Amino acid sequence: MKADARIEENVRRVGRDIFTLMGEDVPSFFDLKHWTGKMMQWAMTDEDVKVRLFRFVDALPALKKDGQAIDLLNEYFEDLDGTPILKGLGLIAGVGFLPHVAGKVVRGNVEALARRFIAGKNPEEALGPIVKLRDEGLTATVDLLGEEVLTDGEAAEYGGRYIDLVRFLGERSAEWKDIPILDRDHKGPIPRWDVSLKVSSFNPHFDPMDWTGSMEKAKAGILPVVEAAKELNGAVTFDMESYQSKNLTIGLFKAVFEEARDFGFPGIAIQAYLKDSEADLDHILRWAKKQAGRVAVRLTKGAYWDYETIIHRQLGRPIPVFPRKAETDVNFERLSGVLLENSEHIRPAFATHNIRSISRAIAVAEHLKLPKDAFEFQMIYGMAEPIRNALKKMGFRVRVYTPVGELLPGMAYLIRRLLENTSNESFLRKSFSEGATPEELTSPPNVEESSSEWDEAPDAFDNEPPTDFGVPENRNRMKEALSAVRKGLGKSHPLLVDGQDVRTTSEILSLNPARTDEIIGRQCAAGRAEAEQAVRAARRVWPEWRRTSSEDRAEYLFKAAEEMRRRRFEFAALEVYEVGKSWSEADADLDEAIDFLEYYGREMLRLGRPRSLGAYPGEENQYLYEPRGVGVVIGPWNFPIAIPTGMVSAGIVTGNCVIFKPSSLSPISGRRIAEVFRTVGLPQGVLQFVPGPGEEVGEYLVAHTGIDFIAFTGSKDVGLRIARTAADIRPGQRSIKKVIAEMGGKNAVIVDDTADLDAAVKGVLHSALGFQGQKCSACSRVIALENVFEAFWPRLKEAMLSVPIGPPEDPHNIMGPVVDSAALQKILGYLEIGKAEGKAKLVGERIPGGYFIGPSLFVDVSPDSPLAQEEIFGPVVAVMRAKDMDQALDIANGTPYSLTGGIFSRSPKNIRRAMEEFRVGNLYVNRKITGARVARQPFGGFGMSGVGSKTGGPDYLLQFMHPKSVCE
Ligand code: NAD
Repeated sequence: MKADARIEENVRRVGRDIFTLMGEDVPSFFDLKHWTGKMMQWAMTDEDVKVRLFRFVDALPALKKDGQAIDLLNEYFEDLDGTPILKGLGLIAGVGFLPHVAGKVVRGNVEALARRFIAGKNPEEALGPIVKLRDEGLTATVDLLGEEVLTDGEAAEYGGRYIDLVRFLGERSAEWKDIPILDRDHKGPIPRWDVSLKVSSFNPHFDPMDWTGSMEKAKAGILPVVEAAKELNGAVTFDMESYQSKNLTIGLFKAVFEEARDFGFPGIAIQAYLKDSEADLDHILRWAKKQAGRVAVRLTKGAYWDYETIIHRQLGRPIPVFPRKAETDVNFERLSGVLLENSEHIRPAFATHNIRSISRAIAVAEHLKLPKDAFEFQMIYGMAEPIRNALKKMGFRVRVYTPVGELLPGMAYLIRRLLENTSNESFLRKSFSEGATPEELTSPPNVEESSSEWDEAPDAFDNEPPTDFGVPENRNRMKEALSAVRKGLGKSHPLLVDGQDVRTTSEILSLNPARTDEIIGRQCAAGRAEAEQAVRAARRVWPEWRRTSSEDRAEYLFKAAEEMRRRRFEFAALEVYEVGKSWSEADADLDEAIDFLEYYGREMLRLGRPRSLGAYPGEENQYLYEPRGVGVVIGPWNFPIAIPTGMVSAGIVTGNCVIFKPSSLSPISGRRIAEVFRTVGLPQGVLQFVPGPGEEVGEYLVAHTGIDFIAFTGSKDVGLRIARTAADIRPGQRSIKKVIAEMGGKNAVIVDDTADLDAAVKGVLHSALGFQGQKCSACSRVIALENVFEAFWPRLKEAMLSVPIGPPEDPHNIMGPVVDSAALQKILGYLEIGKAEGKAKLVGERIPGGYFIGPSLFVDVSPDSPLAQEEIFGPVVAVMRAKDMDQALDIANGTPYSLTGGIFSRSPKNIRRAMEEFRVGNLYVNRKITGARVARQPFGGFGMSGVGSKTGGPDYLLQFMHPKSVCE
């Protein structure tokens, strides 16, 4: 018999042995005699119930009052027959209980559910369960659950808790009696305990873009834990989290244990669902050989499959996980073999509850003639008890992954376990709840038969994926672009009028806001004469351009998108210097520019086909569009390539000629847009580039009788002025000018008392400080309900203080400078107002060298204060208090602006109310309020935030055209 066949036969035999030893045992979780078993069975039969149930459970610990729990329970289940839930949660239909008593019962039961998976609130409390495990012949790896780490202080505290845990385990374990299978392997003694680290918690900004900085900070936090573990004879294993941080985690693992070279028990997890996992394992193996030590490798399947699939699809990046569960199972078996074959350098740990995977590892180990103690199995606390008992009886070492922590931060962990237990693909569900036979459960994974939960649908339009700076090559390209662009700074740039480069004597000096003595470029400025010449040329070429087919016009946009892609690193680098964007903010601007080109091109193909209307004999009706004529595009500096590209491309693809005036703070970025269209051969005169002072050239063009429309993005004051000027009809004017104006915002985020505060703090932080708060969509007001107010703002303050600020060419810095001295002075003025009102909790500090100003936080601000009413356009947040949702909505709607808004809430009722009553153009639920993506979140406001329909949406191009009806 061939080796493979023999191994396969043995897999079946081992599997049968395990099943025999398990007998009739059922994990407590699935036991139908218990209410959790019944409730989970109900949840498993209905996906909708499951989602509601888990959302409710997730929100529960955050509620301050017991009575609220019942309100929320009703909100989630009012339209369902909630009996099994209510019974399950210990409330027989809630009858006869006062809400606060009922609430206590509900909470008590959910807490009991959590305690099945979490060994204790703290190491002291968890000690009993850990010792009990040992008494049963099982060992543990302990993991500290924590809130999401958002601040340096929280990272330091988390590190401190780990050191305490290590000391505690080190001391207590000295009293434990030796159990050979747990405390030694075939090579000698092994530690009696092990701790598992979530390494991202040691640095609030653990981001591969800032590879060195992220690594150094996390290393500084982890090394003391490793040192303590060494001193007290423990082992340390690095958990694996999201794919985004995977390479950085492996890099950190090597860096930490190269420095702590004499530490004998390093460990790291590998997730078999990752397509990269084989290469990563190979990498770790080679490293282990070089170090001449042994590395514990915990082979898991991976716990974030849904997350990775969703996030990567959202970003438009390749999906890093195998689409089919069976492929992961096959890979797990393959990697199990690699681990066992290399047990000279590796301590294999198989972290799975799947009896097939376990049996396979055992059969391969037998085939390799490895002793039973050369490897181990790992199972999760509270799960798969019958399997772990069977393995123990068979003489294997089983380590239980044992989380320790408070209920609130533990909830996310609990939900993960619940999802895992109840997922369609769950081995435990199949075996203990759906009664699959041992034969079925130990047969080899069948990749052909198993279905994929996800299939890629070819879409007409896909958003441009953001650059993955986790890929070393991309980081290098950005660094190279930064240095190449810097070498070329300071040059003089002409205008583009009537297809010709035109030089003028007056110029706009573009300066680097992070280094105010660095000249980005000298941009020739247009005066009235050049503006006049541009209008004439545009009017001359327009008849020809309007006759060009929409397909041909769209083609120029597609080619321009290609050209932008080709130059994206260069352009992003320019934005870093010219307006002070961080790497990722600049990169996102290029994504958006490319998206506009691709999307509007396709939109024009759609709109360019005449539509037939009505069906009447003898009559043919067509509905089509024709361009308005010649337009002016006036852009802002804060998205210096994306926003003007959007307006310019919309104007030209619809058959108009466009005169583009960029902001005087970003003329060189603006110039690049004109270059791109020239490179792709756009006919001369269709797009002209006339930078110059807004009040002069801008105003002149807006008032010009040869202009048919104005597409403007900028401040409210300028937008209103343009609207007034454009409304004046001058002699010789042939059309009423259309004004499309996207203006400012004073955007609010509501945080209610069911909100996930981790998510709320993080969401507000990103929305308020991204690009130093200089986004029209930025969050500048937070309205927190009374119950969460005091918990919310101090955390936000600490998180704000932890954000690195400095020159944005260094990817370590999340915040850069504000754009110029006027912007800085304006912000400083508001800080004085806030101080005078006595509301300052954090006043941004100035950093010399550029227009740097740290974040500021004002708390308990009155809703009519200028801080809460006026657009500041900087890293300044006003937090306000509301007694209930009514008041929160009143405050939120209490400014003239209506641009973006957000709510953090787990109350279906409050979310519904925000959707109906929060008057904004773009509402975001439980996420940051910036970063709208073309075709997914078409962008734009109303009120004093703008007139016009949304950019990146299906109605946008219509504004640049007249509809025409033809009846024959
Ligand atoms: P701004 O209004 O100062 O300038 C915008 C443009 O208008 C510049 O090109 C400027 O030169 C020009 N301009 C100035 N005076 C003019 C005049 N009298 N006639 C014609 N043109 C004139 O705005 P900014 O500082 O460049 O940009 C920041 C503002 O833009 C913020 O208020 C922000 O909220 C808003 N913004 C809105 C959106 C949106 O989509 N709603 C997007 C980005 C920025």
